[in-house]
Amino acid sequence: MKRCLTLLVVLSFCARLSAQEIPARWDELVASDFPKALEKSSKTCILPIGILEKHGPHSPIGTDLIHVREWAARAVKSEYAVVFPDYFYGQINEARHQPGTFALPSKVIYDLLEATCDEIARNGFDKIVILNGHGGNPEFLEFFMQSLLNKRHNYAVYLYRPQDDSVYATAYKKMHKSDMATDQHAGESETSVLLYYRPDLMRMDRATDQSGANQKRSLTPDLYTPIWWYSSYPNHYAGEGAKATKEFGKFITDHEIASFIKALQTVKADTKTLQLQNEFYDKVDNLNK
Ligand SMILES: [Zn+2]
Repeated sequence: MKRCLTLLVVLSFCARLSAQEIPARWDELVASDFPKALEKSSKTCILPIGILEKHGPHSPIGTDLIHVREWAARAVKSEYAVVFPDYFYGQINEARHQPGTFALPSKVIYDLLEATCDEIARNGFDKIVILNGHGGNPEFLEFFMQSLLNKRHNYAVYLYRPQDDSVYATAYKKMHKSDMATDQHAGESETSVLLYYRPDLMRMDRATDQSGANQKRSLTPDLYTPIWWYSSYPNHYAGEGAKATKEFGKFITDHEIASFIKALQTVKADTKTLQLQNEFYDKVDNLNK
């Protein structure tokens, strides 16, 4: 009886402790906890960016969104930061011929991203980390980052770009079964990630219904054309999703999460970027004085 009572006391203490923990998701926070979230995150907000596009015949339309949201959610369990709600507005014109694609005009996606960052900052964050999961976004995101220098911003944006890790790359190659060169979109690795995160959404029996092979219809890599991706992969599928496994997905995501936690720690401790950014804006302002 005495042991039961002790257990009860311990359990209620644990329950109270976990009730004090604040959620990482912006939309799950209560407003009165927002100041606490700002402090705990060192004013850092993660903006996971996905997209809505076909992912072969077998993986969900929101594959990239699911991927980055799971990635961020797991990383913030070790290193707290606030996570912005679902964001799936990016560059995806090349999939407009496939059902389910949500492709807004270029000007809208640019303005929306800037307005979103401005609003995140207006709520007190001065560091925004973009975690991108969509292969059609990097050029757009880099252009967006470069353009931030065009006018003064009171916040810094960091685009997460993981560098090569040779130890991981060697182990990855060993586990990889299909052709590495063509494993790009809804292929073995991406399908493995989704098989690990959301097996309930996968339709693996359909993975071979269409070809994910390069159709080699592009003129030459020396000439970039808007139709380059469609020329090679008209099914919006590049690789062999059928070769995916849950184990490979866990291997990839464990590495991704650990690497992102390190980047998050760097951002949270960083004071240099904003300082240099302000120094730059000051010089611009003083140029013609
Ligand atoms: Zn994808």
